[in-house]
Amino acid sequence: MRSESRGREGLSRRRATSRRAVWTTARTPIFDNHIHLRAEFQGVTAAKAFEQAGGTAMLLTHTPYDDVPIRRGDDFGMAYDKTLAMADAVRSTTSLQVFVALGPYPVEFLALREAIGPQPAMEAMREGIDEAARHIAEGRAIAFGEIGRPHFPVTADAISACNDVLEYAMQSAKELGCAVVLHTEDPTPQTFAEFAEIASRAGLAADRIVKHHSTPLTRPEDTHGVVPSILAKEDLVKTALRGGPRFLLETDYIDDPRRPGAVLGPATVPRKTRAWLESGVLIGSPRGAVHEISTSVT
Ligand SMILES: [Zn+2]
Repeated sequence: MRSESRGREGLSRRRATSRRAVWTTARTPIFDNHIHLRAEFQGVTAAKAFEQAGGTAMLLTHTPYDDVPIRRGDDFGMAYDKTLAMADAVRSTTSLQVFVALGPYPVEFLALREAIGPQPAMEAMREGIDEAARHIAEGRAIAFGEIGRPHFPVTADAISACNDVLEYAMQSAKELGCAVVLHTEDPTPQTFAEFAEIASRAGLAADRIVKHHSTPLTRPEDTHGVVPSILAKEDLVKTALRGGPRFLLETDYIDDPRRPGAVLGPATVPRKTRAWLESGVLIGSPRGAVHEISTSVT
């Protein structure tokens, strides 16, 4: 067994070396699937750090802003404009491809419910979906996100209301042909099955659903076709690779000086991806994909 494993490692190193020759000739696409940027904090500076480390594309995901409180559905428009302006600022100062996800952040439902009652709160969240849908239809955003339900325990009523709003968004995603980025509690195979079930009721294919901040479950029988997006940490990536190559990497960088160290820094995905290509944890391909499993992963 030991000599076989040494042989596999040797093979892996040789493959990594020959593939490396390919991926250094063209710029390897390196994508952070979940990042937040705020103009009043690091903003463009964080995007430049991402680019300098080798990043090429990001999904800039909408997040609530203190200076644009959501008191009713109409307020989402102004909040989304802030995220879209941030995307433009990054595009005009870098060569990055900036994709945008827009949607009502799930935790906002709780404050809205407190302030205006459960039914009007749900209506406001649906208006937030509709406003995001307009931007997606007109090409300014590519996905709903991050939407879903609070990541901490809430009442069954709140979960059921959030699931209704989620199904509404998935119906809209089906019409638009776009993806849905989920913010929820940490998923188990059962919760993945539940997301796939809500998507199926909405007529949306499970592979249009991306679970942000996912546990490193990647086997099809665990994800039920949903795409996990996993924090760029080596232990998570190694665990994820054991199940299969079908997942995305993210930092969930929040660009908030009040919570330093709460999440990974903006350069983490390119920095780690390059290190993992060097060490053979990941193996590049001529198409630039880095999702091939190295045989040295144990
Ligand atoms: Zn986020």
